[in-house]
Amino acid sequence: MATQAEELETLKVIFPEPVVSERSAHFELAIELTKPVDIFAVPDPNDSLSVSHLPLLTIHFTLLELYSSNEPPSVTLRSTRDWLPWYIAHELEAAASMMWEEYGHSSILFAFISHFQETAGTGFGFGWLAVSSSCLTYLVEYDRQTACDKFKKGSHECTICLMPKTGQECYSMEHCGHIFCMECLQEYYNAAIQSGEIDNVQCLSPNCGTETLTTHDHREKKVRHISPGELLQIPLERHVVQRYVVVKRKKSLDVDKSTIWCPRQWCQGAANGNKYPKPTETSQEQEIRLKSWNRLFICEDCNFAFCNCYLDSNRAQKQAEDEASLKYTTAHTSLRPKCQAHVSKISACNHIRCTQCHTHTFSTCAQRFWKQATPYRHCNTKRTPYYHSLWVLEQGEDENEGTFGDEVSRQEIVVYRLDQERKRRARMEARGRVV
Ligand SMILES: [Zn+2]
Ligand SMILES: [Zn+2]
Ligand SMILES: [Zn+2]
Ligand SMILES: [Zn+2]
Ligand SMILES: [Zn+2]
Repeated sequence: MATQAEELETLKVIFPEPVVSERSAHFELAIELTKPVDIFAVPDPNDSLSVSHLPLLTIHFTLLELYSSNEPPSVTLRSTRDWLPWYIAHELEAAASMMWEEYGHSSILFAFISHFQETAGTGFGFGWLAVSSSCLTYLVEYDRQTACDKFKKGSHECTICLMPKTGQECYSMEHCGHIFCMECLQEYYNAAIQSGEIDNVQCLSPNCGTETLTTHDHREKKVRHISPGELLQIPLERHVVQRYVVVKRKKSLDVDKSTIWCPRQWCQGAANGNKYPKPTETSQEQEIRLKSWNRLFICEDCNFAFCNCYLDSNRAQKQAEDEASLKYTTAHTSLRPKCQAHVSKISACNHIRCTQCHTHTFSTCAQRFWKQATPYRHCNTKRTPYYHSLWVLEQGEDENEGTFGDEVSRQEIVVYRLDQERKRRARMEARGRVV
C-alpha cells in the first residue's frame, strides 16, 4: 500500500501544477464533455442553452493522519462563480468515502479522480445543470471563448484554395460551420458586392444547406444571405458592407410587388405601407379607419406622407402639387440640424418638439436649445431675452399680430418679438408689477 507521501508525490507527476503540502493537495481538473450539456437558469427554466465546454474545477484533497487505513480522504470541490451546483458537489464529495469503503480502506485518490472525470464527462450523470442566470451567461461565454481558442489553435483546409491554413487565417461560418480561409472569403464577397451580385453572398460550400434536406426539397433550396454583422466579422471593410446593405434592400424592394414608390419626382424613395400595422378592433368606425390607413404611405427617404389615390392623379397635377409643397415647406418650416427634418409649430405656443429626433426648440429662438431634459426653462429663466416668450403671440398686447407677411424672415420675427416683449415688460413695471 502506498504511503500518503508517495500518493501525493505521484499527483505532482501526473497533473499540471498541483499544490502539494504534507497532508493535502489541490489542483485544477479539466472536464472533457462527451456530449453537449444543457444549462438551465434558475428560477426561469425557459432560459436554457447547451454548451460543449465547462470551466476547470478545483479539487482539494485533505488526508488525515490515519488515511488510508482508518480514515477516508476528505474531498472538496470548488468552481468559479459556483457554476457546479451544490448538490452535485456534495454527491461527488460523499462518493470519496463510499469508494474508500468499497476499496477496502486503501489509497483511492487516483481511482476517485478517474471516477470524477468519467461522471463529469457525461454532464455529472444528469446531462443538464441548473444555475443562476448570471452563471448561465458566464458558462455560455466560457464555452464560446474556448471553442474560439480551439478553432484558432487548430489547422484547417480551405475548400476553395485547397491550402492548409492556421485557425488564425480561417473563418467558420456562423450558421453551418463550414470553414474557409479569410483571404478567399474576402476576395469572393468583395467581388460579388462590387458587381451587385448579392445573391452570391452566401456560404461558399456547394452542399451548404442541402445536407439535411430530402431529395424533394433539393430544388427549393433557399439562398441564405450572410448577415452584415457576419461580413464585418470575416472581416470585410465597412464601406463594402454598407454597399451590400443598400443593394440588398433595393433588390428586395424591387422584387416586392407591394412596394409603393414616393411620387415626388426628385425623391423616388420607397414608401412601405406595412410600417403601419392594422388595428385589431373590428367595429364599423375602426373598419373605416383601417381602410384609410391602408391607403396611407410614408416615403422612407423624404418622409412625404401621401394617400394611395395620389398615385393615380395625372403627372402635371402631381408636379404642381410637388412644387407647391416644396415652396410651402421652405417658407413655413425650419430645418432641424440634428435630423434634417423640416418642422413647424402646430399649436399656439412657441415650443416645437421634432417628431423625428425629439429635440426641443422654440420658434422664437433659432438656435438649438441647450438643455433637452428641461426645455421650458428656456422661457422661464428670468433676466434672459426669452423670459415669458412661450405665449408671446397669444397676448392681447401683441397688437400687430397677424401682420407678418409670408416674406418676413425668421430673424425679423425674433427681433420683432423681443421688441414686443421689452415693451410689455416696461408697461408691467410701470404698473408696479415687477417681473
Ligand atoms: Zn482559401
Ligand atoms: Zn455552409
Ligand atoms: Zn420621397
Ligand atoms: Zn385619397
Ligand atoms: Zn428632428
